[in-house]
Amino acid sequence: MRLIFLGPPGAGKGTQASRVATILDVPHISTGAMLRDHIADGTDLGRQAAERMEAGDLVPDDLVIAMLTDRIAGEDAVPGFILDGFPRNLAQARALRASPGGVVDRVVLLIVDESEIVRRISGRRCCSRGHTFHLDDQPPARPGVCDVDGDPLEQRPDDSEEVVRNRLAVYGRETEPLIGYYEELGLIVEIKASGPIPHITKQILEAVRA
Ligand code: AMP
Repeated sequence: MRLIFLGPPGAGKGTQASRVATILDVPHISTGAMLRDHIADGTDLGRQAAERMEAGDLVPDDLVIAMLTDRIAGEDAVPGFILDGFPRNLAQARALRASPGGVVDRVVLLIVDESEIVRRISGRRCCSRGHTFHLDDQPPARPGVCDVDGDPLEQRPDDSEEVVRNRLAVYGRETEPLIGYYEELGLIVEIKASGPIPHITKQILEAVRA
């Protein structure tokens, strides 16, 4: 199954995409995580992306589209995939649809209100390898330490209040128009993404399997 998870920063796309991908046995493809890996590895792409990411702005389409289309051409993505953080604008959505294997089965739209978004992002803590926790909703077993690899947990630099404000504005301006685009294609399923994490996962699975 090929799915896109759509929603504002803090909607829980990463958490839910990871859970659903494990259950459906398809790769969870997060362009944000891929870009953070490029930065950590010091690649050319990482260098070109870093400044935009720090400011909460979008990385140029040509870079992200090339990275993503390459990734979905991988053998592990043949049975399906979950895209988290891509597409982020209409140009990316059209490029995806035009690329081999880029026609998706469903677009899962996660709905949360703004006060909940702020609460989620301000409590979010990650390790350098991208394992993500939440101080209240998904606390690590030992405070400040990643359960998976024992690395320290920190706030993502672009989760600061000022950058989050810009990321939300960018979402409204660039990404929200995708809802209409995918509605016209009859692909949107709306999920109320508040409440216990396992309950939201169950609702997503029911909706995409229907
Ligand atoms: P995320 O982890 O999805 O919140 O993404 C973190 C940051 O990576 C975003 O604020 C953008 O700067 C960049 N990014 C991730 N995905 C994309 C994309 N599809 N297009 C452009 N920039 C992206």
